[in-house]
Amino acid sequence: MLKRTHTCGALRAGDAGKETVLNGWVGSARDHGGLVFINIRDRYGVTQAVFDPAESPDLMNTAKMLHGEDVIALKGTVRQRPGEQANRNMPTGEIEVLAKELILLNRAKTPPFEIEDETTAAEELRLKYRYLDLRRPALQNILMLRHKTAQLTRQYLSGEGFLEVETPMLTKSTPEGARDYLVPSRVSKGHFYALPQSPQLFKQLLMVAGFDRYFQIVKCFRDEDLRTDRQPEFTQIDIEASFIDREDIYKTMEGLVSLLWKELKGVSFKVPFDRLSYAEAMERFGSDRPDRRIPWELVTVTDIFKNSSFKAFAGAVENGGIVKAVEMTGMAERFSRKEVDLAGEFVKTYGARGDASLKGIEKFLTSNEVPALKERLGISDKDTVLFVADKPKTVNDALGALRVELGKKFKTFDADSIDVLWVTDFPLMEKDEKEGRYVSLHHPFTSPDPSDIGLLDSNPSKAKALAYDCVINGSEIGGGSIRIHDRNVQQKIFDLLKISREEAKKRFGFLLEALEFGAPPHGGIAFGLDRIVMLLAGTDSIRDVIAFPKTTSASCLMTDAPSDVDKTQLKELGIELK
Ligand code: ASP
Repeated sequence: MLKRTHTCGALRAGDAGKETVLNGWVGSARDHGGLVFINIRDRYGVTQAVFDPAESPDLMNTAKMLHGEDVIALKGTVRQRPGEQANRNMPTGEIEVLAKELILLNRAKTPPFEIEDETTAAEELRLKYRYLDLRRPALQNILMLRHKTAQLTRQYLSGEGFLEVETPMLTKSTPEGARDYLVPSRVSKGHFYALPQSPQLFKQLLMVAGFDRYFQIVKCFRDEDLRTDRQPEFTQIDIEASFIDREDIYKTMEGLVSLLWKELKGVSFKVPFDRLSYAEAMERFGSDRPDRRIPWELVTVTDIFKNSSFKAFAGAVENGGIVKAVEMTGMAERFSRKEVDLAGEFVKTYGARGDASLKGIEKFLTSNEVPALKERLGISDKDTVLFVADKPKTVNDALGALRVELGKKFKTFDADSIDVLWVTDFPLMEKDEKEGRYVSLHHPFTSPDPSDIGLLDSNPSKAKALAYDCVINGSEIGGGSIRIHDRNVQQKIFDLLKISREEAKKRFGFLLEALEFGAPPHGGIAFGLDRIVMLLAGTDSIRDVIAFPKTTSASCLMTDAPSDVDKTQLKELGIELK
């Protein structure tokens, strides 16, 4: 065997004259003016090898028989390419290896698609042959970036005194708002483990155990409807600490985010990050994860339409609705009548009845309504304004999403710019109209703001939580809270969420009990590792940053999971299929 002396990304002009052995996969082979050129690829790069009949006609003939993706070992001499033949786009482009010996280590069948960064192969095919897809340099680079992200995270947190502790995968349900993946028990038939939606309860118990600063890079499992930025199993950078307040969490995470972007992208962030209260984010952007790179904001104009002769809006206000506008500066010339209609279709998918442009409704408004609007919105004839009138949540959802949709469509910001901020002071709970009860915005272990404790009795939905999210470019990359460490407050929250004492005991009894054995004040946060790597890599598919991802219907096209199992296996588990 020819054992490699260099990787395929290592050789430079300074190596000219050296003997080298490369191992790798055959990329393109080209026949050129009597010479054969072959690219050899490994995860470090690509090197060009040249076979010259003047050196060895046999060797050249063997080279001609090679197929793409064959695995070879090649021995040769490094030589500098003459000036005009150097390839500046390739790190090894100044040299080539003049082949002296070639061993075919393994033949490859013709791959179902070409292993190239610019691929047109269907994603289903690439997922089925994921190991071939992963040979593409673009994906190799992303997984290397992911590795570096994880390593830097470990180094940084360890340096800050955080201990990495593993928590169980076969466990009890953790409420993070999704469905559980269940695992049947063979030993206790009819009983099930749940895969963790997060290590939330265990990390709190580690605080009770005195570990003080915990972290873990950990898989979490949530059975929910998938989107391009969601996978049924994903990875969190999970953190918990004792005797701290929100400021400590902000500082720790700002340090981590700044380090990652500095080391991996050469970008410096201004710290501390901006902070926006939930209320302000909703008011100005209609979203709790605002993308402030888009220069437009929402403005409430309910009062102006209250008694308007424009009946559609006045009626919405009368029914308890609101009217908000998105003010699109300088867009008058670019925003056609057709765009207004398209926007109308768009807001309908958010349940809003439609939108209206100022131009479109001006004729229905009175002579003092128009100037009042213009003044409130601070607009001129160069600007475009769209309105939505409906229930407050519908207006914010629809107009907030429309702002992002149009802001991106009309390229209103520099694609390389980065917007990072904290959204703080979330409401503790909100009323689920369908179920007629309160639900936690984060999870039921989140501490109310101490100054709002009184509101828990009088007006729970007004109480704020000590909860925070970190948002980058309109994507929530992490969230957490200061926790409840007082047994009685925790009980009160369960009562408000209509989790009965019996149910609370059954589901979280171990936590409630632990709170009575000297639980320190504590809090934490979890960042989505996949989303961070997505942002660092500049890709918009979460599947690009996971070695073996699942499809949006939660299946793995390579292994065929989930699949049926042996009857005997089911029998052992005491399960019968209907
Ligand atoms: N467990 C939470 C989550 O997974 C994060 C936290 O509160 O620390 O979203």
